[in-house]
Amino acid sequence: MTPTSAEQDLLEHYVKKILAAPVYELAVATPLQAAPALSQAMGNRILLKREDLQPTFSFKIRGAYNKLVQLTQEQRSRGVITASAGNHAQGVALAARELGVSACIVMPLTTPELKVTGVRSRGAEALLHGESFPFALAFALDLARRTGREFVSPFDDPDVIAGQGTVAMEILRQHPGRLDAIFVPVGGGGLIAGVAAYVKYLRPEIRIIGVESEHSACLQAALAAGTRVTLPAVGTFADGVAVAQIGAHGFDICRFCVDEVMTVANDQLCAAIRDIYDDTRSITEPSGALAVAGIKQYVAQSAAQGQTLVAINSGANINFDSLRHVAERAAVAIA
Ligand SMILES: *Cc1c(COP(=O)(O)O)cnc(C)c1O
Repeated sequence: MTPTSAEQDLLEHYVKKILAAPVYELAVATPLQAAPALSQAMGNRILLKREDLQPTFSFKIRGAYNKLVQLTQEQRSRGVITASAGNHAQGVALAARELGVSACIVMPLTTPELKVTGVRSRGAEALLHGESFPFALAFALDLARRTGREFVSPFDDPDVIAGQGTVAMEILRQHPGRLDAIFVPVGGGGLIAGVAAYVKYLRPEIRIIGVESEHSACLQAALAAGTRVTLPAVGTFADGVAVAQIGAHGFDICRFCVDEVMTVANDQLCAAIRDIYDDTRSITEPSGALAVAGIKQYVAQSAAQGQTLVAINSGANINFDSLRHVAERAAVAIA
């Protein structure tokens, strides 16, 4: 995998944006923490990048803040708008409050009260509209046109991608030694694009492995087709990654920077949530456990031993009531 000079220029462009992203005005540099029990069981050294410890309990705050901070005074005065029922909504709401920008978040009518309250308590306006996410999104885009508010994409925006890429900057600084692979959960591809751009520019020998839910494997489908495709249906158990089409900006990078993409089943996510709990006494949400589920599958299939593998634990926003289901399925999971 030797990038062309145009590809190398694109990576350099992102590395510069990542190094200049002022995310620490709001986000925290999270620990890269050893997982001793998992490491022992896997015969490999497993390190967890604890993005579940961010102020909004997911990494989305990095991209949202970096996007908002780059807006001109005039754009800021007109406010921002987005559509999201999840972690991006919380990130935009908090970033907007921090910067004194008015934020409107369109959420599908089915959004749990907890998440609506999360947005409102951070000072943003929550507009409930549409039966499902695509309807909320169409409404938000229309409102953006009519009101002049700046639309903030959850993943398909270079400033958002650069904000997420600061996760990789921290990993390489926290672990300057040998690193074999970084496992990254994939939804719309903002996180993996930022991580891959940074890592492939500086440490191209480190493998970047994307992990998708088998019910929303839009990156795998796009790589197989050689072009972005829209999945006919998407499962929402891993709601943080329930995206039908990989972002255009992210795909420009993933095309040549991602070494492998794997998919995992919901029961594997439940088992991974339990594994993470055993090592950290912390609960992750299903999307947040994708990378650990990916590592377990990778080690089982490749018989890798003695490697150093990083999993990005991307979020912790799970309803307490869902834990019963997770515990039940973890008990029956084979992996
Ligand atoms: C958004 C999100 C992802 C996926 O990130 P993308 O940039 O959309 O690929 C993974 N995990 C959690 C918890 C998320 O909120």
